[in-house]
Amino acid sequence: MTDTVLDLFKLTGRRAIVTGGSGGIGLAIAKALGEAGALVALVSRTRTRLEAAATEVPNSVAVPADVMTIDPGQLVDECEAALGGPIDIVVHAAGFQHREPSVDFPVEQWDRLIRVHLTAPFLISQELGRRQLAAGRPASHIFIGSLNNWQSVVPNIPAYAAAKSGIGGAMRALSKEWSDRGIRCNGVAPGWVRTELTESLFADPEKSAQIRSRIPMGRLAEPREMASVALFLASDASSYVTGQMLVVDGGWTTS
Ligand code: NAD
Repeated sequence: MTDTVLDLFKLTGRRAIVTGGSGGIGLAIAKALGEAGALVALVSRTRTRLEAAATEVPNSVAVPADVMTIDPGQLVDECEAALGGPIDIVVHAAGFQHREPSVDFPVEQWDRLIRVHLTAPFLISQELGRRQLAAGRPASHIFIGSLNNWQSVVPNIPAYAAAKSGIGGAMRALSKEWSDRGIRCNGVAPGWVRTELTESLFADPEKSAQIRSRIPMGRLAEPREMASVALFLASDASSYVTGQMLVVDGGWTTS
């Protein structure tokens, strides 16, 4: 029987790594990939939290690791061993925030933010790309951007803004080099999503109301609304999409 368009979204037999998979957007994406049939390695720092998350994700294993300090070769070896073979999909969703005015912003926090949001995704994708190119294996690499790729949305986050602007460029560079050999590289740029990362902003009723009033759809996003877009990018449904940062922001950037 001929495949229907819905079959293109299936990930049966594919193996995926999702960093930041213990919560928020990463966990929602991991669930979507698992529900679509992929075997998923969840990567995050805290074993207990990660193991709890793995119970929510079909076909998943917990691989505790800190992307700030991990050796990418070791991480990929561990994920391949846990999933029983080479990796087809990676989603770089690990992240944190540090808010402080630029005049006081400590270099230690600058380095940590750049490491987690920019250097680690590049190094992990580099390691996977080496293996996938050598094996002639098609793959999908998905980076998580932000409104800060294009705009200075809120003050006091200079390192986050720099890292998020940078990851779009790194993603496009990898797409340029690898997509002729079947490795597509794309990104999801979420608008405002209710997660631990944004909890402190939304806890402030005034700031929260200000943000909502500026979103044409008039509401925040749920993590699952990022997950369905990531599933599209991970799957053959997006077979001719590469080098794109898909903005999922309820209309923010176009209003
Ligand atoms: P979150 O805090 O809910 O989840 C972040 C995850 O990353 C957690 O699982 C955490 O344990 C993990 N993590 C943090 N540092 C890590 C490290 N060093 N090593 C391994 N894992 C680590 O945040 P979220 O909102 O789900 O953010 C996910 C991604 O989406 C981030 O890149 C963030 O910048 C981006 N993003 C979020 C929003 C939003 O509104 N929430 C908007 C734009 C972009």
